[in-house]
Amino acid sequence: RKAAYAALRDLAPETRDGHRVTVMVNAGLRDDVAALDVTGADGIGLFRTEFQFLVSATLPQRERQQRLYREVLDAAGDRPVVFRTVDIGGDKALPYLVADSAEEENPAMGWRALRLALERDGLMKAQARALLEAAAGRTLNVMFPMVSEAWEFDEAKALFEAQRDWIASRGRRLPVEIRYGAMLEVPSLAYQLDLLLPKVQFLSIGTNDLTQFLFAADRANPKLAERYDWLSTSILRFVRLVSDQARAAGVPVAVCGEMGGRPLEAMALIGLGIDRLSITPAAVGPIKAMIRSLDHGALQARMVDLLDHPTRDMRAVLADWAASQGV
Ligand code: PEP
Ligand code: MG
Repeated sequence: RKAAYAALRDLAPETRDGHRVTVMVNAGLRDDVAALDVTGADGIGLFRTEFQFLVSATLPQRERQQRLYREVLDAAGDRPVVFRTVDIGGDKALPYLVADSAEEENPAMGWRALRLALERDGLMKAQARALLEAAAGRTLNVMFPMVSEAWEFDEAKALFEAQRDWIASRGRRLPVEIRYGAMLEVPSLAYQLDLLLPKVQFLSIGTNDLTQFLFAADRANPKLAERYDWLSTSILRFVRLVSDQARAAGVPVAVCGEMGGRPLEAMALIGLGIDRLSITPAAVGPIKAMIRSLDHGALQARMVDLLDHPTRDMRAVLADWAASQGV
């Protein structure tokens, strides 16, 4: 099987009826970029920039951040890289950074990610400079985590644009294009998509956090791990809602949570109109194999019917259907 997946490296993730899916990988450290060549993925759909902070005993200074981003872009070559600004704080607390943050009772829904970054804007400004300078002469894709209301995206983008203007005023080279996106992992944002979609170049659904917030179920609590299924009516209908609105607005939407790396889940997502996945590198082979066995038209029709007539065990229904189709 392993050899079969290796053979898939140079084959496109395309369904039997010719629908091309973009399959990218999640990464966070310099060496993760090697996964691009190993798997034949289309790019890095989620680069978790906080990893550099988490593995460091002291705050990584701007020069160090910039060096990492440039190395990643160099290694990726023509393949796109989506840099997510730091998702720290809360359960990813850094002692050297948030010394004044008190213990939080619910850190996952606490002072983290964009919430912290917009208030501690020195940190975000340094990261913006590092990203903009690292991507001089290239395309910069930047994505903000934990956006809960559309105006938070506006503030984060404005902060980047101010740094861009500063770099330009010094006569230094800028990225040829800056593409801004938001993660959709806090359910409240789904009810402001009409406000958000005209402003973003792309969206990425983070199903890890989304699931915990949608079900009010701690993603790290083993007692809850088996209770709610990614293939539940609520998650699937949520994804459909976002996917339909994004398509109508012409905004590409990816899924970058772990859900997308599971074949049956990825199949359901593709049937709901998601045609970009960013997944753990080990999942690329199995997901490509699944995609190449699909009839996209039949799958879409099945998903419409299934979400109109849901059952308690959507997983079983989808597994039966996949087996009947030879997926
Ligand atoms: C997510 O929440 O789904 C996600 C991709 O981000 P992280 O797992 O880093 O929170
Ligand atoms: Mg998340």
